Amino acid sequence: MNLPIYLDNHATTRLDPRVLEAMMPYLKEAYGNAASHSHGFGWAAEQAVETARAQVAQLIGATAKEIVFTSGATESNNLALKGMVEAARLSQPGSSLHIITQATEHKAVLDLCAWLEKQGCRVTVLPVRRDGLIDPDELRRALDEEPALMVSIMAANNEVGTVQPVEEIGAFCRDRGVFFHTDAAQAVGKVAMDVTRAKIDLLSISGHKIYGPKGVGALYVRRGVKPAEQMHGGGHERGMRSGTLNVAGIVGLGAACALAGAEMEAEAARLTALRERLRTKLLAGLERIRVNGSADRRLAGNLSVTFEGVDSESLMMGLKDVAVSSGSACTSASIQASHVLRALGLSDEDTHSTLRFGIGCFNTEEEIDFVAERIVEVVPKLRELSPAWAETT
Ligand SMILES: *Cc1c(COP(=O)(O)O)cnc(C)c1O
Repeated sequence: MNLPIYLDNHATTRLDPRVLEAMMPYLKEAYGNAASHSHGFGWAAEQAVETARAQVAQLIGATAKEIVFTSGATESNNLALKGMVEAARLSQPGSSLHIITQATEHKAVLDLCAWLEKQGCRVTVLPVRRDGLIDPDELRRALDEEPALMVSIMAANNEVGTVQPVEEIGAFCRDRGVFFHTDAAQAVGKVAMDVTRAKIDLLSISGHKIYGPKGVGALYVRRGVKPAEQMHGGGHERGMRSGTLNVAGIVGLGAACALAGAEMEAEAARLTALRERLRTKLLAGLERIRVNGSADRRLAGNLSVTFEGVDSESLMMGLKDVAVSSGSACTSASIQASHVLRALGLSDEDTHSTLRFGIGCFNTEEEIDFVAERIVEVVPKLRELSPAWAETT
């Protein structure tokens, strides 16, 4: 077993060696520009990009033409939301610019919506239940109150692993003629996603969350849906995203999608077993800990645990050799309470006593056992040092 142990697979994942191998030629001798149509260098690059496009499409039940390559899920979310708002403004001035989202979205969506609000959009942020799931009735109510241009609700959450009912949301949006965007950075390659069945109009993908490279992603854009370009230039990607294509990155994303498609089912079962092993050991070894988020509608590799009376920063320090993140992960530059945990109803104190475990395809049973043992050892020690804990016991 090699130390340190990486259990932060929601933040990013290690590049799969098979993905790296697929990318290598395009970082070396096959360096053509996919938009060069006058020689073999360009054709080879273009062909590799089109293979990758088909691989990405296949994983989500789309057609290759519906895939737009971007620099990652942040850009995809920006293109989806800003692009659709701008398109609506241009084509139907005066039409509804109401966007409905929900409280546990990634900052890439929430901050974007806050910005759009300043630009004159109306934004409704739906609450979530204690288990992190949205209540479809809340969505229904919000739409009854005011028609919307689009709904943006993530497929799976990056902190508590909650998998939202996208099929129900999609059916509902299609009925009402509302565009449905989903940030699926954590869901694609982990849970089965089918854009047709779930009636999704726009879907964001990130390479580095699925053992692919960083700085590459995709936006699925359903045929007939036309977000306005946000990156102006040479008219690449059917005019939706200009800029010379990151050929090696795109090849890596395609390879990662192909591998995920082939291995997802077996991998989900293996990760679920590892997560349950960790959960069981922690619950057996420690009192007053709680698991956050839905028990059954959850990513296989996610476990979010609140250790009452323990400061998560101290716990992480006590767990040197284990890379995990606290509830305040996505804003780790500042120690703010996680907006996700707050949305689930955790107190400020509990959000600062929470760790997120992100188990990935390179983790082993041996590693999980090591981590569980370390935590069961360290938590009581930290509690002993806490005067507040002494008073409550
Ligand atoms: C990581 C992540 C993003 C950002 O993706 P990048 O490719 O890093 O821009 C957006 N949404 C969710 C849910 C994520 O987990």
